[in-house]
Amino acid sequence: MVLEKLGESLKNTLSKIASAVFIDEKLVNELIKDMQKALLQSDVNVGLVLELSQKIKQKVLKEEIPAALTKKEYLINVVYEELTNFLGGEGHKIDASAISAHKPFKIMLVGLFGNGKTTTAGKIGKFFQKRGLKVALLQTDTWRPAAYEQLVQLGTQIKMDVYGNPKAKFPDQIYAEFAPKLAKYDLIIIDTAGRDALNEELIAELNKVNNIVQPHESLLVMSADLGQSAQKQAEVFHQTCGITGVIITKMDGTAKGGGALTACAVTNANVKFIGVGEKIDDFEEFKPKNFVGRLLGMGDIETLLEKAKEAITEEDAKDMGKKFMSGKFNMIDLYEQMEAMTKMGPLGKVLDMIPGMGQLKLPKEMIDVQEDKLKIWRFIMDSCTKAELEDPDIIDIPRIERIAKGSGVSQTDVRELLKQYKQSRRMMKMFKGADSPKAMEKMMKQFKGGNIPGMGNIKFK
Ligand code: GDP
Ligand code: MG
Repeated sequence: MVLEKLGESLKNTLSKIASAVFIDEKLVNELIKDMQKALLQSDVNVGLVLELSQKIKQKVLKEEIPAALTKKEYLINVVYEELTNFLGGEGHKIDASAISAHKPFKIMLVGLFGNGKTTTAGKIGKFFQKRGLKVALLQTDTWRPAAYEQLVQLGTQIKMDVYGNPKAKFPDQIYAEFAPKLAKYDLIIIDTAGRDALNEELIAELNKVNNIVQPHESLLVMSADLGQSAQKQAEVFHQTCGITGVIITKMDGTAKGGGALTACAVTNANVKFIGVGEKIDDFEEFKPKNFVGRLLGMGDIETLLEKAKEAITEEDAKDMGKKFMSGKFNMIDLYEQMEAMTKMGPLGKVLDMIPGMGQLKLPKEMIDVQEDKLKIWRFIMDSCTKAELEDPDIIDIPRIERIAKGSGVSQTDVRELLKQYKQSRRMMKMFKGADSPKAMEKMMKQFKGGNIPGMGNIKFK
């Protein structure tokens, strides 16, 4: 995988958070240190790394954590978001629908010798051919011997039409010669000549081709092994040749990929694609979000982000909200509520759905649920009869003894559950009466210092 080492270190770092019992400043510092090390090893600029560390630290230690997330989830989320920002925005899209808006759409590739322009021409061609577009390649490189043959070879491999004139002396002439034939394609990819360095001659030549071709996209092709110096190159090409984006090649072959990627993020030229190998299919769209997700272990991140959205569906929340409002509430509801809370912290969401409750800030601990307790409650409830669950008031001392024996927990645990249930029910009743923001506010005041179902002795602020 691209930037494998960076990915590995970041994943290790994140698993430290995942297995930590407490998230305190010490752990955050440790995490940041690990991250700095990983980023510096992949050649990311020191200044940028420090800036990123500051931001993460500031967010994690100072900001209020959204009720829907645990501290761990929040921390992972912050790392994910900041790393994504770090790699720059996506900018405008170069996708099949953008291309279909102009016919023929023209992508011109520019860059210095050996950075992978010609190879990349074939790669992009194949990329969009697979997406149903009719693509042609045009060679305008009159500089490198056999440039045309190289492109023809690629074209043959992927069954794509290739145009060019190895005898012609000037790139603009080549374009003029073939322009009429190219009109029938959806997409034309124009390969150009490079030089060892961006000198006057190359600038003049590229501007000349630019004027006649009028490409929709002019993409700078740069090798990842340039590392941080990619920034300088991107800037100069941007100023003199008006590039619209960057393609970074050879991401597979160097530890400096992180440097090249982040260097480009600082310029206004977004990285659009990356080359990840010599083969024609070793080519990917570059989307910072997906990329970071993969570095950190996409599965985990995706799960986390999905979780934030889906842990409690709107339907569930509305149902629960209704129950709150109706004041009808038995132990089965309590259990369901507890279970939902372990998934997300729906109480906060439920409250959001009740008029007037949205703006009340609840202490985060209230939303955290100890899974162990939930387990014990499940045992207890499993030992209850249906009648007991529906009407817990009938549970007297002999029943408590029986339930404790049956579920293998202490009588204290059973009593605690019953106490929690009664408190919840009391709360439900109060909710029932509170049907305006004002009434709600009054009710919350009464609540101060009171218990919340299942939450132990958590105090309202
Ligand atoms: P140009 O001079 O800019 O046209 O560069 P070429 O397309 O001729 O490529 C120069 C060399 O880089 C060739 O040997 C390619 O196979 C190699 N190359 C291009 N892209 C990649 C890539 O993403 N990964 C690897 N490993 N090699 C690449
Ligand atoms: Mg070439």
